[in-house]
Amino acid sequence: MEAASLAMSGARVLVVEDEADIRRFVRLALVSEGLDVAEAASVQRGLIDAGTRPPDLVVLDLGLPDADGVDFIREFRAWSSVPILVLSARAGEAEKVRALDAGADDYLVKPFGAAELLARARAHLRRRQQVAGAGDALVSFGDVTLDRAHRRVHRGGQLVHLTPIEYRLLALLTARPDRVLTHRHLLQELWGPSHADDAHYLRVHMGNLRKKIEHLPSRPRWLVTEIGVGYRFVSETT
Ligand code: CA
Repeated sequence: MEAASLAMSGARVLVVEDEADIRRFVRLALVSEGLDVAEAASVQRGLIDAGTRPPDLVVLDLGLPDADGVDFIREFRAWSSVPILVLSARAGEAEKVRALDAGADDYLVKPFGAAELLARARAHLRRRQQVAGAGDALVSFGDVTLDRAHRRVHRGGQLVHLTPIEYRLLALLTARPDRVLTHRHLLQELWGPSHADDAHYLRVHMGNLRKKIEHLPSRPRWLVTEIGVGYRFVSETT
């Protein structure tokens, strides 16, 4: 907890949300963790603020009065790789996917609690701090170790036999901890653009991969399903 707070304190979060109540709720939660919070109620104000004082994290509503939140993501991604956490309506699956494919990292479904918001904010701010240090040739979680240099995976000291697709799926997800990768993104990376709509391929390979990696493949700890959207590798420290 102390280390987490330390990672958070002083970081700057830009909250782009037009509903004053939600903006206030988000601000109070973030400020309680020692974060510096800027607020904007429209896409245009958000982009101006982000350009003037670059944030370390953006919390972005998708339904904004002057433009679509996805427009913010596209413009912002043209010059910044700072994590974007999207706030989405409950039934907005297509909307979430669109935001993630445009370059958002993660989403929270409204209504969400302060603890959930802070856990996500911590994960993304921590990852941002780590970007400079780690080439991450070796990734460890639980009793699993992935060695990128040798393309090998061990579990409890034993070599795990993964198919090339399973290995690449695991490598893709662990390279971007705590981010949601959409079906479309993963399919394109694994098989190329012509398979972008074949989400059932992914399900089959993910099922096999989980059997080799997870203690309880039906209740995965590391390779988590984001229903209707994609998958997320949940890092150890989350
Ligand atoms: Ca809104």
